[in-house]
Amino acid sequence: MYECPHCEKQTIRASRKLMAGKATPAICPQCGGKSYPDIKSALTGLVVLNLVGLGIAVPAVLLDTLWLLSGVFVLAVVSAKIFVLNKPMTKVG
Ligand SMILES: [Zn+2]
Repeated sequence: MYECPHCEKQTIRASRKLMAGKATPAICPQCGGKSYPDIKSALTGLVVLNLVGLGIAVPAVLLDTLWLLSGVFVLAVVSAKIFVLNKPMTKVG
């Protein structure tokens, strides 16, 4: 569970936080407050992450090691989710 920025209680489910956006905020079951993860800073992290991933992916393709490539892909997806989850929720309204 993740902290609601309105009542500061651990009420936001991980799945809800991942799906939440500015247009579709997560609604706190405790206080009804709306919030979403700060994607802008998460995206900055993602760009850095993708550059690192690309640095591994290119030699993986050249060396024909597809298992490494799929490993990089899984790692990118997992770390993207962790990155979003680690961001505090931003209040809406
Ligand atoms: Zn709340």
